[in-house]
Amino acid sequence: MSDTLFQDLFAPHDRPLQQDLDRCVHCGLCLNACPTYRELGLEADSPRGRIYQMVQVSQGKLAINDEYIEHIDLCLACRACETACPSGVQYGKLVEAARGQIDANRSLPWWQRLVRWFVFDRLLTSPFLLKVTGYKLWVYQSSGLQRLVRRLGILKLFGRLAEIEALSPAVETPFFFDKVGKVFPAEGETRYRVAFLAGCIANISFARMNEATVRVLQKNGCEVTLPPDQGCCGALQVHAGLRDIGRRQAKQNIAAFTQDNFDAVITNAAGCGSVVKEYPELFEHDPEWHAKAVEFSSNVKDVTEFLAGIDLNRDLAPLPLRVTYQDSCHLLHGQKVRTPPRAMLAAIPQLEFRELPLSEICCGSAGVYNVEHTEMSMALLEKKMQMVATTGADTIVTANPGCMLQLRVGAARFGQGQRVMHVVELLDEAYRAAERI
Ligand code: SF4
Ligand code: SF4
Repeated sequence: MSDTLFQDLFAPHDRPLQQDLDRCVHCGLCLNACPTYRELGLEADSPRGRIYQMVQVSQGKLAINDEYIEHIDLCLACRACETACPSGVQYGKLVEAARGQIDANRSLPWWQRLVRWFVFDRLLTSPFLLKVTGYKLWVYQSSGLQRLVRRLGILKLFGRLAEIEALSPAVETPFFFDKVGKVFPAEGETRYRVAFLAGCIANISFARMNEATVRVLQKNGCEVTLPPDQGCCGALQVHAGLRDIGRRQAKQNIAAFTQDNFDAVITNAAGCGSVVKEYPELFEHDPEWHAKAVEFSSNVKDVTEFLAGIDLNRDLAPLPLRVTYQDSCHLLHGQKVRTPPRAMLAAIPQLEFRELPLSEICCGSAGVYNVEHTEMSMALLEKKMQMVATTGADTIVTANPGCMLQLRVGAARFGQGQRVMHVVELLDEAYRAAERI
């Protein structure tokens, strides 16, 4: 028995399944859709090449060694290859399972294990720790200390800390955590009863975006409930291969959101929505939770998807902006939602929409990818901003907080300081302006 197969005995659920690997016929039609292949031109960093390596590992012909891990880690998990693939390869499912297998098999230095445990298992899943961290960051960012530290370049003395700090989100007080557990009534007649998954980091760094989402839903006749027992969706953990934490978070959310019969469970973060819609994949070995996950996930909708499916409140004021839209990978390739965000923008009077060339290619955000693979991430971002410049847009809109963060960095470093917003924030702006007319 090979080392890899022996080690797999300790993590039997998390490995790419043979029937999923077998779907790839090695045609190569996905190669040009892949950002890392486009950047490096290396087969080993293409979808086909990565699948080939997974097959080799599954057959015991390749060990889970540093080289293999590097190629799997460098993948953005953007899933553009899935959209391009004519054979229906579920690449996202494969890469997440491969990362779970890697996590069970690799030995990391103790301090890296400790950091991963603290961030993924404790910080992201604890509203208390997130609030404490948020307040500390708020003091650092709003007291002038951040400006001083950046000007003096102190963090450059600590390896990559300066880069990580530069990419970290600004916090927004008051935090959205205060709204969790509350019910917000519909404006006018109640047409729908929906639940809102508020996320984890979004509660401290995208609090205004979450508020805008609730207001837009209220404007559209929704009573919006924020179940008190909801938690982090587990997306960042699943992407990092920490699938047991993902399962724990999935169970918490399934229990929290199925205590009532909602017309839909709404997310405004495409990365979260994608994982939440795919909770069943985490329980393929567990029939009881698999059935619960299927029932729950079938009711989840991205906010743009939900709004495009109802009779939209058209009481929107004109917004004479020149706007372009960057597809969020996990909305377009993960959830196959392309038209709804564009339909929402088209509903705003006087908004001039400019389609972004190559909007289906990742901006380099990909969860914590921009922190872990900053060089590749920035190379992709610079190209993205060159495309944005061709549109002449003054506002860049997307549908995922992670993409917003990355595009804000792009607008500052490689762009013309364009405004970066979520679709729902622009809708909210138009509704609120209409109230003032
Ligand atoms: S993943 Fe799909 S498109 Fe890519 S090589 Fe395999 S079968 Fe072809
Ligand atoms: S998920 Fe994205 S980066 Fe990874 S192989 Fe597919 S296209 Fe390439």
